[in-house]
Amino acid sequence: MSYPNRNNPYTFDEFLEWRNEVDFYADDPFIQAAVKTYTGEAWQEIDRAARGFSPKVSFRWKDIADNIAVPEKRPYMVYFDAHNHRVDRIVRPTETLIMEKEVFSEALFSNKTPKWEKLVKMFLLYQLGEACIACPVTCTEGLVAILEQFADTPELNAILNHCKEGVDGDFGIGAQYLSEIQGGSDVPANVLEAVKEGDAWRLYGTKFFCSATHADYAVITAKPAGSEKVALFVVPSWLPGNKEKEIRNGYTIDRIKWKMGTSELTTAEITYNGAVAYPVGPLDRGVANVVGIVLTYSRLTVGLSGAANMTRAVREAKKYSELRDAFGLTIGRFPMVEAQIRDMEHAAQRTTAGAFKPKFPQQSICIFLKSKVIVTKWISLYWEQAQQLKGLFL
Ligand SMILES: Cc1cc2nc3c(=O)[nH]c(=O)nc-3n(C[C@H](O)[C@H](O)[C@H](O)COP(=O)(O)OP(=O)(O)OC[C@H]3O[C@@H](n4cnc5c(N)ncnc54)[C@H](O)[C@@H]3O)c2cc1C
Repeated sequence: MSYPNRNNPYTFDEFLEWRNEVDFYADDPFIQAAVKTYTGEAWQEIDRAARGFSPKVSFRWKDIADNIAVPEKRPYMVYFDAHNHRVDRIVRPTETLIMEKEVFSEALFSNKTPKWEKLVKMFLLYQLGEACIACPVTCTEGLVAILEQFADTPELNAILNHCKEGVDGDFGIGAQYLSEIQGGSDVPANVLEAVKEGDAWRLYGTKFFCSATHADYAVITAKPAGSEKVALFVVPSWLPGNKEKEIRNGYTIDRIKWKMGTSELTTAEITYNGAVAYPVGPLDRGVANVVGIVLTYSRLTVGLSGAANMTRAVREAKKYSELRDAFGLTIGRFPMVEAQIRDMEHAAQRTTAGAFKPKFPQQSICIFLKSKVIVTKWISLYWEQAQQLKGLFL
C-alpha cells in the first residue's frame, strides 16, 4: 500500500550504479569458465588478454555506445559540398568515430592476435549491441578471410594488409554487398554488371542493402558482362589519395534506409557507375566463395553476437528484477519472473558455450533442437548449414 506523494521518489539510480560498475569479463564467471574450458593450454594468455580488454568495452565504449543510440545522433548524408561537388559524405557522431578508431586499433585480425583472443574480444564487443561496430567488425573478418585465400595482386595485398595490420595506425574496415532489389537470398539472381575495360574491372548497376556504408572496402557480388555466373570483387570506397578529397570510387549513395533498430549504422542503396573493382578468386566461383567463406563468418557472428546480446540482457534483467517491487514484492521473487529469467540465463549460457565450442558433437545439436529458444536453434542450424555449404562449395 502507498500514500500519495507529489514528489515521486522512484529512481533507477541503484540499478544504474550497479550497471556502471559491471565488468563484462571479470564479473562473469560463466564466460571465464567457457574460456578456461575451450581454449586449452592457451587459456591463461587469453584470460589475461580478456581482462585487459574488458574494461574498455564495459565502461568507456559502453558509455559511448549508449550515447550514440539515440534518434538525435542518427547518421545522415551530405550529398554535395558547398561547391557543388558530389561527395556523398556519411556524417556520424564524433563519439562513433573515436570508438571505431579505438576498436579497430585493437588489430583483431592481425597475425599477432591469437584466434581465441579475437573470439573472446568479439564476444565482449558484441555486448554493446550494434553500436556501428558489430557489423563492420564481422564484415572485416570476412573480407580478411577471403583475401587471405585469394589476394594475388598488389592492390588486394595492400587491402589485406590495411585491414589486418593497419597502415600508420589506420585500420581498414570492410563491408559486404550482395543483396539487390530483386532478392537478397537469391545471390545467383544478381544483375549488377562487371565490365572489363582495359586492365580494370568496373561495376555498373545497383545494390539495395549496403550496411557499414562508411567502410573502406566492400566485398561485392556481380556478373561479368555476358556471363550468368556471379563473380566476387573487392571494391575500395575511394581510390588511393581520394578519401581526403571525398571523391568516391565511381558510385553514389542514393539513400540511407530509415531503420527502426541498429540505426547507429547506416544501410544504404548504392548505384555503381564505373567503380573500379578487383576480382577475387575465379570469376565463375563467386557464389561458392562468398557463401563458403564470407557469409560463413557472418553467420557464425550471428551466433556469437546472439550469445553476447543475451548475456548482457539477462544480466541486466536479473539485477533489475532484484530491485523492482510490484504488489509489495520484489518482482524477481514472483515464480514466473524467476523461471523466465532462469530460462533466459540458460539460453544465453548454452548459446555462449555453443559459440565457443570448436566442433558440435551430435549430442549438443540434439540438445539445441530440443530447446524452445529460437536463437539457440539458429546457432546449430547455421553451423550445420555452414558446414554443409562448405562441403558443397569448397
Ligand atoms: C537492416 C538490414 C541490413 C542489411 N544489410 C545488408 C548488407 O550489408 N549486405 C547485403 O548483402 N544484404 C544486406 N541486407 C539484406 C539481407 O541480407 C536480405 O534481406 C536477406 O538476404 C534476405 O533477402 P530478402 O530480404 O530479399 O528476402 P528474400 O530473399 O526475398 O526472402 C524472403 C523470404 O523468403 C523465404 N526464402 C527465400 N529463399 C528461400 C530458400 N532458398 N529456402 C526457403 N525459404 C526461402 C524465406 O522465408 C525468406 O525469409 C540487409 C537487410 C537489412 C534488413
